[in-house]
Amino acid sequence: MAVERTLSIIKPDATDRNLTGKINSYIEEAGLRIIAQKRIQLTRGQAEAFYGVHKERSFFGELVDFMISGPVVPQILEGENAIAKYREVMGATNPANADDGTIRKDFAIDVQSNSVHGSDAPETAAVEIAFFFSETEITG
Ligand code: ADP
Ligand code: MG
Repeated sequence: MAVERTLSIIKPDATDRNLTGKINSYIEEAGLRIIAQKRIQLTRGQAEAFYGVHKERSFFGELVDFMISGPVVPQILEGENAIAKYREVMGATNPANADDGTIRKDFAIDVQSNSVHGSDAPETAAVEIAFFFSETEITG
């Protein structure tokens, strides 16, 4: 299996509840390394661009409002099979369907305020990492 990188975002519902460290302990205990990190306030334009793939969905406007409602923590995670592994650690989009021991089962509020984002494929991971981080910000 190859070493991969994926883009994680700790979302405003989680930064608001002071859960950054608890969520990162799930990430690190799964064997994923946090190799880049920042805490930022997204602009509306940035949130609309990041979630552009969802712009036709009924929840798009609410999703953008939510993502700019407070600070977020984008991070690059690195490890064996990191993209699929982090999706497992996150759990299902709707916490009602998430497995025990996943971040979303343990921390998410509902299908929108679900605490974390994770890339879903190598192509999207590369685009999403470049959205938040320049090469000089990635130290490994
Ligand atoms: P995931 O984050 O698991 O990859 P999606 O890419 O399908 O899920 O959706 C992106 C984000 O949009 C979700 O994480 C969630 O915050 C929000 N979302 C998804 N489905 C809904 C929904 N039915 N109602 C409200 N918000 C939603
Ligand atoms: Mg997604």
